[in-house]
Amino acid sequence: MTDYKCSAEALCGGCSLLGISYEKQLAAKQAQVQSLLSRFAPVEPILGMDNPLYYRNKVHRVVSRTRQGQIICGNYEAGTHRVVPVRRCLIEDLSSQLILDDLAKLLQSFRLPVYDEDRRTGLIRHLLVRRGFSTGEIMVVIVSASPVLPSRKNFVKALLDLHPEISTLILNVNSRKTNMILGDRNIPLYGKGWISDRLCGLTFRLSPGSFYQVNPKQTEVLYRTAIEMAGLTGSESILDAYCGIGTIGLAAAERAARIVGVELSPEGVRDARINARENRIAGASFVQADATEWILQASSEGASFDAVFLDPPRAGTTPGFIQAVCRLSPPRVVYVSCNPATLARDLELFEAQGYRAEKIQPVDMFPFTEHIETVTLITRAERDYRLGVR
Ligand code: SAH
Repeated sequence: MTDYKCSAEALCGGCSLLGISYEKQLAAKQAQVQSLLSRFAPVEPILGMDNPLYYRNKVHRVVSRTRQGQIICGNYEAGTHRVVPVRRCLIEDLSSQLILDDLAKLLQSFRLPVYDEDRRTGLIRHLLVRRGFSTGEIMVVIVSASPVLPSRKNFVKALLDLHPEISTLILNVNSRKTNMILGDRNIPLYGKGWISDRLCGLTFRLSPGSFYQVNPKQTEVLYRTAIEMAGLTGSESILDAYCGIGTIGLAAAERAARIVGVELSPEGVRDARINARENRIAGASFVQADATEWILQASSEGASFDAVFLDPPRAGTTPGFIQAVCRLSPPRVVYVSCNPATLARDLELFEAQGYRAEKIQPVDMFPFTEHIETVTLITRAERDYRLGVR
């Protein structure tokens, strides 16, 4: 399993483990988690994929052009702003890549001006395709510096003639000088402006800017592991912090009485509320807030949870969040992490507050890349007062 061929020859920096067999990738990730985290709790064997190719449901390309005026769609070369053309990527959904091939040709034939980062002129900046693997629904997003797309009607028709399977086409307006791909404004050019996907038996709506796990197959493994660790019986009140579109909390809903989700992105919270309603899940509420600010407030108001899920970005959570969770004193905390280094830092803080990691389960969400996902069960350490130790 070592002879994978990448058209960008790994220049894009996405697949740093290209050329290493999948078995060896898993072993390397296991060793890394072990070296960073085994001092906290036993590390279970990593859960890998049967088929680690074409797993990404989200495909992104930067749009650029050569000096000769040829449009290129690719990724930034690692650590630079040079665009490496990507023809075929081994980890991204293939049908989405075929749509991107044709989109690039249409941009060229319609002579749509490509955005120039330095001069801040032109229009088209990025292309994005997201596919719901279990529904087959496809969202195409064209990121442009302007809300006005020249020859809009003919362009949309030409794309849909080639790819009638597209469910929705969105023009996202991003005129800022920024590294962020998406701007705040979405203009549906075709369809409803969002797609659905099914995960853990539920249907989830995703908008262009909402976070959604990129490897849906392994996401089910990840969520099942997390929900299992929470040891729910049906009567619990749970907190889903950094909840995105509400997936973890809602997937746990059939085993809990009440769910509160907290998420910073307004688009994510809107999707989460709709997802609760569409899946007929009562007892779920979602708050748009910074997780730390919200939980500090909640803990000072005497809130109570039986289990807390947290799934923060790579930077991990904050000391304030950890202190407030420990003050709320839930018996179980389940930490879903995409960065074992910040997890190690945060586990030390949990330990200092009388909590203890019990079990660490790595799940390979990102084959061929160096990224590592883990789920950790953290429990309130019962103090043994007789001995004065926990
Ligand atoms: N649990 C979700 C999302 C995980 S990604 C899932 O499995 O899909 C992390 C999420 O944290 C993102 O949705 C991001 O928007 C959100 N986030 C980032 N910073 C935050 C903060 N300070 N407070 C609350 N949410 C935050």
